[in-house]
Amino acid sequence: MSMTDLKSMTIEELKDWMVQIGEKPFRAKQVYSWMHEHLAASWEEMTNIPKSLKEKTGDYPITALKVVDEQVSALDGTRKYLFGLEDGNVIESVLMRYRHGNSVCISSQVGCRMGCRFCASTLGGLTRNLKPSEMLDQIYRIQSITGERVSNVVVMGTGEPLDNYENLLRFIHILTGEGGLNISQRNVTVSTCGLVPRMYDLAEEQLQITLALSLHAPNDEKRRELMPVARRYSMQEILDACRNYFDKTGRRITFEYSLVAGVNDSEEDARELTEKIRGMNCHVNLIPVNPIKERSYVRSTRAAVDNFKNKLEKCGINVTIRREMGSDIDGACGQLRKSYIDRTESEK
Ligand code: SAH
Repeated sequence: MSMTDLKSMTIEELKDWMVQIGEKPFRAKQVYSWMHEHLAASWEEMTNIPKSLKEKTGDYPITALKVVDEQVSALDGTRKYLFGLEDGNVIESVLMRYRHGNSVCISSQVGCRMGCRFCASTLGGLTRNLKPSEMLDQIYRIQSITGERVSNVVVMGTGEPLDNYENLLRFIHILTGEGGLNISQRNVTVSTCGLVPRMYDLAEEQLQITLALSLHAPNDEKRRELMPVARRYSMQEILDACRNYFDKTGRRITFEYSLVAGVNDSEEDARELTEKIRGMNCHVNLIPVNPIKERSYVRSTRAAVDNFKNKLEKCGINVTIRREMGSDIDGACGQLRKSYIDRTESEK
């Protein structure tokens, strides 16, 4: 991370920077509050900052995302945003309105290199990591645009957050720390396809965030067909890392399981999954797969989903079926960005 990206700095780093440019350290607190509490998108908005300081900041613009597209669901008020970054890349974020509050799903990378077979976000590979400021600003812009408080954040958009580990940690600290939005760590969920060494690292960070693990299969053989990363880490290694995460943090693990018709949704699959995770302090989130046109995967029938759920519940496992939000606006995860890129490519 370049140290001139002020919005990615902690308050201490910002203090040092102020001193370096010949300013009083207390200015750091003011500027930090403008960026992370008042969600300012430019120096101009910071009304109590003297002109003399602003004049020095020409080379240090405030990172702020530009809205390229916004879609609002007529069904449930879900809003999907396509944001433009400084370098011309675009990323996708989603605001979901629940009874318990507003939840924002953010991207952690431009593209992804994990290659999960059913996922639209990985089709073009990884372009680059997002900076902490670019992760934060997805939430800041959405809260500014809607005027509604965001209470939950899920890092489940495009990208593998643990593949952008240092920036992810910095993002979490600024998001949940004092002087910013101060969102409770318990209301932050990070979803990973299972980068085992980073899962152990994360368990040592003394965070109270929820770890969601994308399992999607009851055994290694099936998992490897859906997720190339499963060739690197076995389910045994992943489940051990999950148990360690619970032991170290006391936080219950969420397993995500996308149901694909005829691939991982049979009674036998449910039985095998149960055997693997029985006794763990966990919760299973079933997601009927969102078909993408580049692949031939088909969503499980409602009956198969219910059946799968019942099988797990009978064995005492907590299960929910993910409620589909905003299904009338540009389909599944990563598809708004994908359709925008396809469109602009074909216009070239
Ligand atoms: N890289 C992280 C987070 C991003 S994806 C991870 O793998 O967990 C967030 C969740 O959506 C993951 O569980 C992912 O496997 C799932 N997902 C991606 N594409 C999907 C699709 N088309 N249908 C259903 N779930 C999908």
